[in-house]
Amino acid sequence: MLEELLERARELLDCQRDVKVKVRPLKTSIARVSFRYGTITLDPSVLKLEEEEILYVLVHELAHLKAETTYHSSAFWMEVEKAFPRERAKELEDNVMMKLHRKMV
Ligand SMILES: [Zn+2]
Repeated sequence: MLEELLERARELLDCQRDVKVKVRPLKTSIARVSFRYGTITLDPSVLKLEEEEILYVLVHELAHLKAETTYHSSAFWMEVEKAFPRERAKELEDNVMMKLHRKMV
């Protein structure tokens, strides 16, 4: 399922780069991205979320990768908004934080 959601996220953001997704316990966040290796790492807790929320987490990390920034800059939001209207993105982000009590990076 994760691979399918990643494919959907890549299509929505028109991401040409080959991106891999790994699941591994993370200490400080629920997800992170390696710019160098094009790898998104998810904490196992993410897999308990609803499908749309998981898709949002992947879109969020992919947007960092595409915008080449760790900041939530306008370039970052431009990428996210290819997949979700800003209001929906913020709703999903709040839901994810409430459920997992941790931020995404
Ligand atoms: Zn972020």
